[in-house]
Amino acid sequence: MTDPLAACRDVTRRFGDHLAVDRVSLAVQPGEIVGLLGANGAGKTTLLRMLLGLLPVTAGEVRLFGEPPSRTTRRRIGYVPQGLGLYDDLTPLENLRFSQAVFRSPLGALPADLARETLPVGRLPLGTQRRVAFAQALAHRPDLLILDEPTSGVGPLVRARLWDVLRDASDGGAGVLVTTHYMEEAEECDRLVIMADGRVVAEGKLSDILRGERVAVVDAPDWPGALTALEEKGMTPALVGRTLRVVGSSPAEVEQALAGRECTVREAPATLEERFVQIASVGVSGAS
Ligand code: ATP
Repeated sequence: MTDPLAACRDVTRRFGDHLAVDRVSLAVQPGEIVGLLGANGAGKTTLLRMLLGLLPVTAGEVRLFGEPPSRTTRRRIGYVPQGLGLYDDLTPLENLRFSQAVFRSPLGALPADLARETLPVGRLPLGTQRRVAFAQALAHRPDLLILDEPTSGVGPLVRARLWDVLRDASDGGAGVLVTTHYMEEAEECDRLVIMADGRVVAEGKLSDILRGERVAVVDAPDWPGALTALEEKGMTPALVGRTLRVVGSSPAEVEQALAGRECTVREAPATLEERFVQIASVGVSGAS
């Protein structure tokens, strides 16, 4: 296996008494898309910022291209922060020229429609702003892309386009580390790392994370009554349409909880979202 583009070992970050990231290790290889998942506050952004060298670690070690983070390593990275990091009062082209001057990175190009744009970024729709941030992050053909919720708030079409861009970059050999709250995006990743309360609680390919986990699916004419009955038994049913899905309980247990009610109970594979909620809530190291 080649050297990882980015690697951290036992990285920890404290803010005062608060342990935001707790002994996290991960690596990103060339050509792979690694998805970093976790609830709000799980420590994803803090981890990315340490990997980039923007935030000092409290303990542990970060390596980019085999070296500690520096201005030199920064030039080989494309980074899209949550806030996009664009200057609202500059046009897309002016933004690109500015960042290339600051990082002394080679001159890259924007897609033609963005290069022609005469409005400042702050007056463009969010989807276009995100395309600008992507294009800028990729313009110098970075070896590593680090993206913090890059498609948050955009529609499915723009999101699909942005993912095409990511896949093209990884097909070209770049490594990608991307945080997301969208399960459809997580499913696009080659590998997932799930964080909860600052720690890695599961990692692996989607199939490793799902582990063949099953849910009990309930169809009941009186679904509000069935929902309440399951909750009273300490289960956490989720309502999907008019169907109830129960993670972590067998169909037999669910049938027992609904005894005497008109209903059918069957089993189905858990979705990533269901598995994610299960992992993040109990903090098990299920697939690592
Ligand atoms: P989100 O999905 O909302 O972006 P996240 O997983 O990226 O969340 P972080 O932003 O890394 O989470 O935050 C992890 C924890 O560290 C949170 O409790 C947050 O309040 C805390 N934290 C982050 N940055 C700081 C800071 N500069 N000072 C103090 N606490 C911080």
